Amino acid sequence: MAALRLPVSGLTVEFRSPTGADDVLLAEAPAGDWPLALQLLERLVVSDSEVDFGALTVSDGDALLLLLRRAQGLDWLRASVMCPDCGEPMEVAFSAGDYLAHNEPQTTESVVALDEPGWFGLDGTDVSFRLPRVRDLLELSGWEDSRAELVRRCVRPARVSARRLRLVEEAMEALAPSLSRELEVRCPECRHELNVELDVQLYCTAELRLVARSVFEDVHAIAASFHWPEREILALPRERRLRYAELARSAA
Ligand SMILES: [Zn+2]
Repeated sequence: MAALRLPVSGLTVEFRSPTGADDVLLAEAPAGDWPLALQLLERLVVSDSEVDFGALTVSDGDALLLLLRRAQGLDWLRASVMCPDCGEPMEVAFSAGDYLAHNEPQTTESVVALDEPGWFGLDGTDVSFRLPRVRDLLELSGWEDSRAELVRRCVRPARVSARRLRLVEEAMEALAPSLSRELEVRCPECRHELNVELDVQLYCTAELRLVARSVFEDVHAIAASFHWPEREILALPRERRLRYAELARSAA
């Protein structure tokens, strides 16, 4: 298992294989959201030191989820959309590895790191900022004007001109590229350009929940065939559970 490096923080992580117990967590969760994603990361990330996942930048949080699904053999992201112009269905598909490689953080001369950890100064101005964190998203979910509150939390002083705010946002984007955003794609039929919204966290949790949902049928098939207790079946790595379940089904 090779250690993987998060693009913004440089934190290195490894993942353990998900077990049936992890799949039960996914399958029983009422929705795919950041609280579920954080629970999953806390269980599956193996690291020498304790990691506060909520303190990661949103960029690193999204990257970590893409790396988590890659560790489970899932590299391609796919979405089926309908072209709004010609009405033809089309598939948008790309590799998460390529996507991460194309969205590496850039150094930018317009910012300087400040003494306060995590804070940057916009060069030649009194404006300073920090990068949005996963915990900001958690705390602001459901807020009516979450964007204004995010600016209030991440940018100083309180009143910044629109032009300077745009410079701050450009600098943030360079230091920690948004992986959840609108992607520009072109219809292969009529060449119409359209935007497809990618929310990495929603995509990954929905997909992992789908992968996990066979866990109850698997336990049933294995228990009926091999008479192992539920606790032992749920402790198996997913790969092995799927193989035993397949054997049990073919023997039935
Ligand atoms: Zn079209």
